[in-house]
Amino acid sequence: MNNAEIIELTHRHQVDVYGCLPLAFARGHGAYLYDADGNRYLDFFCGLAVTSLGHGNPRVVRAIKEQAEKLTHVSNIFHTEPTARLVERLANHFGDGKVFLGNSGAEANEAAIKLARRWGSNAGGGRFEILTTLGSFHGRTLATVSATGQERYHQGFQPMMPGFRFVPFDDLPAFDRARRDETVAVMVEPIQGEGGVVVPRADYLKRLRDWCDRNKLLLILDEIQTGMGRTGKFFAFEHVGIKPDIVTLAKALAGGLPIGAMIAKPEIASSFTPGSHGSTFGGNPVACAAAVAVIDALEQDGVLENASSVGGYILERLKEFARSCDRIIEVRGLGMIIGVVLKHDPRPIVEDCLKNRLIVNGTAGNVLRLLPPLNLTREEADAGLAIIENALKNVPVPK
Ligand SMILES: *Cc1c(COP(=O)(O)O)cnc(C)c1O
Repeated sequence: MNNAEIIELTHRHQVDVYGCLPLAFARGHGAYLYDADGNRYLDFFCGLAVTSLGHGNPRVVRAIKEQAEKLTHVSNIFHTEPTARLVERLANHFGDGKVFLGNSGAEANEAAIKLARRWGSNAGGGRFEILTTLGSFHGRTLATVSATGQERYHQGFQPMMPGFRFVPFDDLPAFDRARRDETVAVMVEPIQGEGGVVVPRADYLKRLRDWCDRNKLLLILDEIQTGMGRTGKFFAFEHVGIKPDIVTLAKALAGGLPIGAMIAKPEIASSFTPGSHGSTFGGNPVACAAAVAVIDALEQDGVLENASSVGGYILERLKEFARSCDRIIEVRGLGMIIGVVLKHDPRPIVEDCLKNRLIVNGTAGNVLRLLPPLNLTREEADAGLAIIENALKNVPVPK
């Protein structure tokens, strides 16, 4: 099928929640995607921070093929080797952790929320409330959307699930003012992704960690977007030398297959006992085999170093460009998550880049977001930057 046929058929039968761009992709290779009419695009989006090793990464493809031929599913009442290998690798990266596997980011956060409540209900002395931040994004299920501090995601779904309150991001005293007797945990993203690539002050997470310790609260970090090397470290929290009580991963974890993971300190994870929680597909052997291959690549192929150096280069180039571009308010980010804050809706820029065969993304009303593959080359970075800078120079500022 060509682009037009695929788009028409989808529109006719799919629930319209995505506001899709009029493009259908047929295949990908490395940092490039090919649409159903055969046009090639440079991908600075990675399916929203998912295909972080590029498309068709040989390690990931091989792992998926080999596992698909052996075994695709058995149920969590049995064990499989890929699941065993993945939980070992994740626990080691976290440093003495226990892992629960699900199929998406929202499910990973659901597990974190349920674990915090479960821990709060016994060890935590009957506490249940979780403080999250304004501008956050934690998922679309009813609990995770209730945890999301953005009114627009709540519209029409009220009543929201009780047990969440919001404080401004990057504002530690606000947590202190909001804390009540029933507060058991705080949940934050190390960098707000959907909120517009909002990078907090350097000491925010460190001081939040100390404050949680003093007040006997769990610190839950949602690293669904920032984890798996996106910022140049396996976990973003490694940049500040802290460790959360619970962390969640998803998006890039299995290189493009659906997966989610919650990792918790063993003394907290033990609040979950047989029967407490579960997921039919969680820990699926094919997804787990892919995830092990992704972790191999992060550890062995110099991917984290590349994300730091090429990501840093993109950030500096755009900061330099911004000095002579008055539609830009700020350029911010870390590693391969970069936001260009504009004085206007980023859509015309996104569309112009698409016309010139570069995929970028707009979020938070006025932020152009770049999520390139972690193994992007300097030449590919230059090619993408030329298209972005051209758009920022020439596309008229919308009214
Ligand atoms: C994408 C995202 C989620 C939700 O993940 P899904 O897989 O879409 O359920 C949660 N938190 C953050 C920070 C995310 O970026």
